[in-house]
Amino acid sequence: MEHIPQDHPRAESLRIRQKIIDGLHHNMVVEAGLIAHGRGEAFDYLIGEKTNQNAIDTMKIAVAMLLTANHPILSINGNVAALCSEDMVKLSEITRAQLEINLFYGKPGRIEAITNELRSAGATDILGTRPFEESIINDLSSNRRYVDPNGIKLADVVLVPLEDGDRTEALKKEGKVVITIDLNPLSRTAQQADVTIVDNIIRVIPKMCEIAQTYKEQIEHHRLSLQDLEMQISKFSNTMNLERSLQIISTYLESKVMCDKN
Ligand code: ATP
Repeated sequence: MEHIPQDHPRAESLRIRQKIIDGLHHNMVVEAGLIAHGRGEAFDYLIGEKTNQNAIDTMKIAVAMLLTANHPILSINGNVAALCSEDMVKLSEITRAQLEINLFYGKPGRIEAITNELRSAGATDILGTRPFEESIINDLSSNRRYVDPNGIKLADVVLVPLEDGDRTEALKKEGKVVITIDLNPLSRTAQQADVTIVDNIIRVIPKMCEIAQTYKEQIEHHRLSLQDLEMQISKFSNTMNLERSLQIISTYLESKVMCDKN
């Protein structure tokens, strides 16, 4: 890894960026992934590069969905693997949602590189480790149409972070409940998903692990039931969530304009 000075004002952002660059060098991330990351960075600026209460409330709904699902799946692409493999493995262990590798660009050796990264992060059970020509998601022409017959194909709830709109739309048409993590509340994915967490995946997955752990302990001690979680889910509106996310951006920008005037 390149040396990033501790006192650099944007050290944290540079460290995250370096993870993506390392991911490119290790054949996990593709060039287009660098551009997607840059788009994410730009939107992170607009929310002040921190997690807000609306995002936390939405993460709680996402965790509730994973815990109450019959067959939940966490979909892993190159950027996700490069940025947060360990936390994804942890989330998978806590929620019992299986990990499935699903890629847009099927470069030789990429699935193996991501598999190795997940294994080093502690994963033992990984789906999507070979192309499945026989199992497809309809209405998709890219490589991502091939899914694991024991994973996304059977899933009722799928977490697809850092994705594009086509895939979300196709998964919805197959009857899946789609949860996404996307810093851009205006992206097609953000707009089409059932639950959109508008925050940086780097901050989201550790927080979701914390929430999932708390819910599980509460369920074990009979202080929370699956019915309570289902009730929370039924009250959620993604339209309102996205409206609040846009409002947060707008308020943040207004506060900056006010600062500049003073
Ligand atoms: P769509 O088709 O949904 O409109 P897109 O064309 O922007 O999306 P991609 O280029 O695949 O799709 O980008 C993936 C999305 O992931 C972008 O909206 C980007 O803002 C978001 N993103 C990138 N990095 C992160 C991150 N670290 N955390 C959360 N979201 C991110």
